[in-house]
Amino acid sequence: MKAVQLVKPGALELADLATPAIGDSDVLLRVLAAGVCQTDVHMRRTTEVWAPSGTVLGHESCGQVVEVGAGVSNWQPGDTVVVHPVWSCGGCPACVAGRQNACMRTGGRMIPAPTPGVSAGVHGGMAEYMVAPAAALVGVGDLDPALAATLTDAALTPYHSIRRTQDLLVPGATAVVIGAGGLGRMAVQILRAITAARVIVLDVLDEALDAVRDQVDVALRADDPEAAEVVLKATSGYGAEVVFDLVGNDRTLAFAAGVVAPYGAVRAIGLSEGTFAFETSQGAMSLPWGATVTRPYSGTLQDLVEVVGLARAGLLRPEIHRFPLDRALSAFDELEAGRMRGRAVLIPG
Ligand SMILES: [Zn+2]
Ligand SMILES: [Zn+2]
Repeated sequence: MKAVQLVKPGALELADLATPAIGDSDVLLRVLAAGVCQTDVHMRRTTEVWAPSGTVLGHESCGQVVEVGAGVSNWQPGDTVVVHPVWSCGGCPACVAGRQNACMRTGGRMIPAPTPGVSAGVHGGMAEYMVAPAAALVGVGDLDPALAATLTDAALTPYHSIRRTQDLLVPGATAVVIGAGGLGRMAVQILRAITAARVIVLDVLDEALDAVRDQVDVALRADDPEAAEVVLKATSGYGAEVVFDLVGNDRTLAFAAGVVAPYGAVRAIGLSEGTFAFETSQGAMSLPWGATVTRPYSGTLQDLVEVVGLARAGLLRPEIHRFPLDRALSAFDELEAGRMRGRAVLIPG
């Protein structure tokens, strides 16, 4: 089968591999669509070792079940599914509590559960076939496979943070979204679909703001020196109940801390090596009373089921660009060059 394989750090190739064999609790999927994400681009570019040579990339996968393991009873050949990119144990206290994204056995205190196509030893979906644990699948029915694939990361990650702060996002509350790229646009659509909060979005690019302008209450240039003032004014000086930082650098974290409301929440979803300091006394580095800052990881299986539900209800419409699997490397080039406005999705066959 054809597959996009990491040859060594910094080098990818379209390889010809044997179709993988499944274990008793796995299924074999014929891949219908595989999303390409900035993480994949980073894995091609970086000289650090992420996954061992030979790893097939792809953590946003949709496929059709073609074979099930001896111990699998809940899936049949022909079912169309997406793959939860969090391969947890299913049985530890965190998993039992529904927090597969904080699995205690397959992950650890600072390491999440394995992600196909990213973690050592687990191949991903940028291939004609993929093996996945039956427990990590969510059925998608007749949803467009390319749309379905993007749900597993680009939608799941913001959904998880929005869902966990939904008690703050009551009607009349304000949500700030920093970064109107793929995840930011998804965040806006999710906020619109499941809350009645006011939405303020920031980006440094006018064209990114243009893509969401008609869906939000306020669109602001992030490099406008008055931006924080505008957010505070729009909230009568109190601040925004939740700030979703999809960038995560020093500047955006400082901005988020500067506009969050008392007992509000900053969710640092973007991982741009930002650091954030705060002081316990009342000073320039203090947060409002009760405000929290956390770094959420991916989403739970329940979150993925709900995201699929939102998409099936027609409420998520990401901009998708399809590439045949044969042209996978051009999709990487487009994304790396910043020429990709929406989500690139590889289609085998
Ligand atoms: Zn990703
Ligand atoms: Zn677990």
